[in-house]
Amino acid sequence: MNIRKTTVGAGLVASSLMLAACAPMQSAPKAPEKAKNVIMIIGDGMGPQQIGLLLAYAKQAPNSVIANGTTAFDRIAANGNMGISMTHANNNLVVDSAASATQLATGQLAGAEMIGADKDGNSAESILEKAKKLGKSTGLVSDTRITHATPAGFGAHQSHRSRENEIAVDLLNNNVDVMLSGGLRYWIPESANDEQSAARQELEALSEGSVRIKSKRKDNRNLIAEAQQKDYNLAFNRSQMAQADGKILGLFAYSALPNAITENQTKNDPGRTIPTLKEMSEKAIGSLSQNEEGFFLMIEAGQIDWAGHYNDTGTMLHEMLRLNETLNYVLDWAEGRDDTLIVVTADHETGGFGFSYSANDLPHGRDLPGNVFKEQQFKPAFNFGDVATLDTLYEQKSSYGDIFYSQFDALENDQKTPANLARIVNAETGFDITEAQAARVLATEDNPFYTKGHQYLSSKTVPKMDVNGAFFVYQTDDNRQNLLAREVAEQQNVVWATGSHTNTPVLVFTQGPGDTTAPFGKVLHHTEVGQQAIDAL
Ligand code: MG
Ligand code: ZN
Repeated sequence: MNIRKTTVGAGLVASSLMLAACAPMQSAPKAPEKAKNVIMIIGDGMGPQQIGLLLAYAKQAPNSVIANGTTAFDRIAANGNMGISMTHANNNLVVDSAASATQLATGQLAGAEMIGADKDGNSAESILEKAKKLGKSTGLVSDTRITHATPAGFGAHQSHRSRENEIAVDLLNNNVDVMLSGGLRYWIPESANDEQSAARQELEALSEGSVRIKSKRKDNRNLIAEAQQKDYNLAFNRSQMAQADGKILGLFAYSALPNAITENQTKNDPGRTIPTLKEMSEKAIGSLSQNEEGFFLMIEAGQIDWAGHYNDTGTMLHEMLRLNETLNYVLDWAEGRDDTLIVVTADHETGGFGFSYSANDLPHGRDLPGNVFKEQQFKPAFNFGDVATLDTLYEQKSSYGDIFYSQFDALENDQKTPANLARIVNAETGFDITEAQAARVLATEDNPFYTKGHQYLSSKTVPKMDVNGAFFVYQTDDNRQNLLAREVAEQQNVVWATGSHTNTPVLVFTQGPGDTTAPFGKVLHHTEVGQQAIDAL
């Protein structure tokens, strides 16, 4: 697993001697190079299928917004190495984002839902902490919350991913130089919930009213004030971020940043206060790259996973486009440099997504000019999907989450009818549903998995999942979204297997100096991906 050891191992030395004997002009293999900087980009929930959705859109959509159909994945694949990596947690088949981030960050096996610990529960040093020791600068960027599982795996050590108050303290103690994300609610004192409190007024002033001030802490620690004492420059909106330099703590939302449909719709809005994932990445690289010793930066596109959990294909396409834009920026920045290892991967696949052929809306026969079809029409037995579907997916105006939480749930109780749900869905998406379909989306049942006190399974009544209900674990409201996805499956030629994660091995794209990328071009486990990134620093 260690690049150096394997490369100079006895077997390889012997074979290189043989090579030298056959080809005397060839020079001996160079010692593996190190990278001054490592940038790890994680698409949360971005299995090969999710990349496949982006590629299909880029290359097949009649009105694709991607110039020449060339994605950032095309670029990095042409520059470097590609591998495939298993993601499972210790003794499990599947992984969650916390254990997966931990494995990528530490190179060690972790248990499910752990943060920064090895399988026995010991604190494990992360690549970010190693970079610090080497005198490098460090950064974490995410479009979710800075305390969410993926960034936490790199900068915290906690028994469970849900301990976000404690994770915020760990991130601060770790002195991560640049942190740009959402999740202000874990950084401000409980007393800020009192509208008259001094803490509240101070935070309102500091943030220029850009972020909702509401705390989820159970104590009165003001981590924002503590960060200031540790010489962090604070940013709560785009213009503050633009002015900040050096150590930066940027928290731009109460919880997560906007989803990618909203981000795309508001991108050119002059009053926009929340930076895009690309803008945060640009800021982080600009600041971290001032350190002559180099830097480690983790950038997460974290909401690919959320669209996957909800089985919301149109939103997932936009989330992939958000990652694509960010990765294109990073590749532009790295162009012509020979000192930066870029590792792009996912923590796992979410949803078991795929376009699929069906018995719905069978194709009509049509004539083809070719000689093979002189006597017979071209008439496949099944519906293999129309590429125009990709454009319709792109045109979705609201995420399924917004359709339910912002629109349907905001209706008066007597207005929460199937007819009104159908009206909203049909206005916001290009895949119309009928009132009867909307009624199935809103149908409920006694919770077959009811578990008293459980974070997600404690509702007595839940949306009615006829098939595989055990895999749709975020029951209460979210499963209405999964049911909506089932109703439009035939129109979209899209199927989803689950509301949780699958073990589908994920792709690993790398580019970097010398032979730093060579060890990533094979079948791996994420502990090896992590260890090789650590070794390259
Ligand atoms: Mg994540
Ligand atoms: Zn997930």
